[in-house]
Amino acid sequence: MNFLQATYLSKNNIKTVQEKKLQELLKYIAIHSPFYRELFANNQVDITTIKTLKAFATLPTTTKEDLQQHNNDFLCVSKDRIIEFASTSGTLGRPVSIALTENDLKRLAINEYNSFVCANGTAKDTYQLMLTLDRQFMAGIAYYFGLRKLGAGIIRLGPGVPSLQWETIRQLKPTAIVAVPSFILKLIKYANENNIDINSTSVKKAICIGENIRNTDFSYNILGEKITEAWNIQLYSTYASTEMQTAFTECNEGRGGHLQPELVIVELLNENDKHVAPKVPGEVTITTLGVEGMPLLRYKTGDICMYYDEPCSCGRTSLRLSPIIGRKKQMIKFKGTTLYPPALFDMLNEMEEVLDFVVDVYSNEIGMDEVLLHILPAENSKAFDNSIRAYLQARLRVSPHINFVTVDEIKEMQFNEGSRKLIKFIDRRISE
Ligand SMILES: [Zn+2]
Repeated sequence: MNFLQATYLSKNNIKTVQEKKLQELLKYIAIHSPFYRELFANNQVDITTIKTLKAFATLPTTTKEDLQQHNNDFLCVSKDRIIEFASTSGTLGRPVSIALTENDLKRLAINEYNSFVCANGTAKDTYQLMLTLDRQFMAGIAYYFGLRKLGAGIIRLGPGVPSLQWETIRQLKPTAIVAVPSFILKLIKYANENNIDINSTSVKKAICIGENIRNTDFSYNILGEKITEAWNIQLYSTYASTEMQTAFTECNEGRGGHLQPELVIVELLNENDKHVAPKVPGEVTITTLGVEGMPLLRYKTGDICMYYDEPCSCGRTSLRLSPIIGRKKQMIKFKGTTLYPPALFDMLNEMEEVLDFVVDVYSNEIGMDEVLLHILPAENSKAFDNSIRAYLQARLRVSPHINFVTVDEIKEMQFNEGSRKLIKFIDRRISE
């Protein structure tokens, strides 16, 4: 099959393609994966009875903890067939290792080739890669191989150093960049401070990785807005993870990341592991198709998204994923409402009177979640106090507790020696 066309197939044909690949996967892991062999035995799973996606949805799920605690049992090939050892940080502290064979690297190249084509890329483009290409980071090589397949020009500059990025843009004239959105903001800031006219440069588009640029209704969030207000470029969002070895990438329409149905099955599950309806938040659960080294079956990523299943205006028919709404572990159940930290961050970022903040979640005496916002206000006044309370009440329909703090107090909260990032979210809840 031509990989490019699979995203254009009818729903029924997509189902047929996936069900065929699924049966190959089940046969493969039942023989080669010690973890799944045991899981099937313990749950009396007879894989020969799993012929449809409906039957597939009754199989047990896999968690990140499974992958972390039994990492080697997921490996399906002998060590001599492994080419790349990628890794990703685990929730229990230890990193998770993902081993890739030659065919897995080819699959990764096809996925990113499709992604770049989806994001309007051609052999005529030159991409400046502003991301880590070593340190076992899978996305770096995935982009590189995808661009090789596309025949586009590649500038492997790596992350950081705005002055060098701009100097290289001036010299080599890339048409596109691949970067973390908050770094694009830093590029813009540097350009403004150094009299670089960003809108007259060769760059016309950016593939955005690692952070959301849109809200779930696909409008730009504050980050997306700030970038596009300053810089007249087209932004394309992507969603991916090391474990799934697959990326979901937006087309020109910017209405969610397109699924490549021949490479992965995606399900969105509620708390009882049942499928949610379109446009309802659920945990992204993936099944890799065609992976040899470490295939995953119904793997729960911990990311909460929504899906859209109507055809996209670009002509592609495959399912689309919304921006990440939050991490499942960070879900806050507050006075009958379900909240995720990114939504609170967006709201607070939008208020110019809020200079900085920390979201603090804790359990009250009856074990319910409480939200306390530590806010550094531009001015300490009763009027501001009233306006932020009214704003939050209107947006959230519930009122979190508010604690106004000083510059020193917020710095102390945000800085932690064990973490390289500023802390914006503190979770003090007692887990059961
Ligand atoms: Zn589309």
